[in-house]
Amino acid sequence: MRQRAARDQQRLDSGAVTSPKDLSNLQHEIASLAKRQGDLEDVVLEVMERREAAQERVSELTERVASVQSKIDDAGGRRDAAFEEIDGEVASVTKEREVIAGSVPADLLKLYDKLRAQQGGIGAAKLYARTCQGCRQELAITELNEIRAAAPDTVVRCENCRRILVRTAESGL
Ligand SMILES: [Zn+2]
Repeated sequence: MRQRAARDQQRLDSGAVTSPKDLSNLQHEIASLAKRQGDLEDVVLEVMERREAAQERVSELTERVASVQSKIDDAGGRRDAAFEEIDGEVASVTKEREVIAGSVPADLLKLYDKLRAQQGGIGAAKLYARTCQGCRQELAITELNEIRAAAPDTVVRCENCRRILVRTAESGL
């Protein structure tokens, strides 16, 4: 388009075109070409500006992705550390349980395991202030009297939930 405008201008300047109508047409075309060039330059400028804005957005989003990824990595690290800690605790508690279970008579352990399976993982409960801590029911007077009269090594059980009751100084007997 620039070339065409230059050529038109050259023809105009050369004086080869003499007809007033042709001269007017030529001048008109030159003006119209100049306007189109200006319009195109505006478009190019706008495209460049939009490209710049898009690049800024890309780098902004890239930064955010990196920041989110680093948070994910952080959380993953904390999760792994927590898993490791829990695994360690499970191993140590399991070992502890084995030691304690080894000191419990076999028939009592069998009863406990059976109750534990039936009662949602709790086979024995503390008797606290005349209340079974397994089912939270207060024991009846007659039951408390029976427990009070039982020998310390007798296995006593809750009348309500059948769990083994563990007597302590706080049992309220
Ligand atoms: Zn109970």
